[in-house]
Amino acid sequence: MKELFRERDLTKVTFYQSLLEAAEIPTFIKNENLSTTEGVSIPDFFPALCVVHSEDYDRAYALIKEHLEETEKLSGTEITCPNCGETSPGNFGACWNCQSPLTQE
Ligand SMILES: [Zn+2]
Repeated sequence: MKELFRERDLTKVTFYQSLLEAAEIPTFIKNENLSTTEGVSIPDFFPALCVVHSEDYDRAYALIKEHLEETEKLSGTEITCPNCGETSPGNFGACWNCQSPLTQE
């Protein structure tokens, strides 16, 4: 088991879960039922997408990144994370990779 990313918005987490399931990567979501309370702002309680088998992590990571890059092209903006240097689409409030808050210039 290895966590890929966590995100306050469960719909995004389930979206990426279906993306990975379509690629036959077994996944599960941690904290799926904890996140429904509005105003939850503690990342520890955000829904987290995990791969069941750690050896799938790299492939899952690549798939999500590929998808993000496509989204990025469509949105036309990207934000470089000040913490880890990964780029996230401009509509992301937090780095998809390390969850650092992102601010749009
Ligand atoms: Zn980051």
